[in-house]
Amino acid sequence: MIVVLLGAPGSGKGTQGGPLSAKFGLAHVATGDMFREHIKTGTELGQLAQSYLNSGALVPDEVTVRMVRERLQRPDATNGVILDGFPRTLPQATALDEALNDEGKQVDVVPCVSVSTDELLRRLGGRWICRASGHTYHIDSNPPKTAGVCDVDGSELYQREDDSIDVARKRLGIYFEQTGPVVDYYRGRGALVEVNGEQSIDEVFRDLAEALKARTEPTRAV
Ligand code: ADP
Ligand code: ADP
Repeated sequence: MIVVLLGAPGSGKGTQGGPLSAKFGLAHVATGDMFREHIKTGTELGQLAQSYLNSGALVPDEVTVRMVRERLQRPDATNGVILDGFPRTLPQATALDEALNDEGKQVDVVPCVSVSTDELLRRLGGRWICRASGHTYHIDSNPPKTAGVCDVDGSELYQREDDSIDVARKRLGIYFEQTGPVVDYYRGRGALVEVNGEQSIDEVFRDLAEALKARTEPTRAV
């Protein structure tokens, strides 16, 4: 199963992507996490991506598509993936189709998590992330048990530079301008499932899991 999880920065893709992929036995492929890992370990790709991430701009399509294509070849992706943060532009969406087509696969379902702009800015402003593996918290709505420490692996929590108010606003503008057409692209194909992201984390998870199940279970003849 190939799932594209769409939604603006702050809509909850990362929060949901991990548990959802575990439930369905899929690999969680989050391009933002991949870029941050490259930056942390100082690879050539990390050096190239850094200025884009810092300023809130998108990394060029060609670089991003190559990274995702390679990731999809890894053994854990053969059973299926949840793509989180990709595709973000129309050329990325068509490149994904081509890559999947080469292997006789296709995008099966595209849940799109919607959240108002005010709530997105509130979430990004209070987001804290763990250094070790990117587990995500919110200072008010999803706080860690001990301030500044990840519940899962005990590592330090930090705030992303690109979550500062000015860069966050810029990223939301880019989302509506560049990723909006991607939403329409999947809607036109009948693959889009709108999910209300302004519910509790558990309720959003329930709706996402239902969307995935509905697309994978064969329809029973009545
Ligand atoms: P994305 O990956 O889409 O950018 P995240 O999963 O990182 O979004 O979530 C953004 C912030 O909002 C995080 O601080 C997270 O803890 C918080 N969050 C996620 N889902 C919810 C929710 N349903 N209600 C309230 N806060 C949420
Ligand atoms: P968020 O969780 O707030 O949606 P991400 O962690 O997904 O943000 O992405 C952080 C940054 O990584 C983006 O602002 C962009 O610079 C880069 N990035 C991630 N995914 C892509 C992509 N598909 N295309 C281009 N740039 C990307």
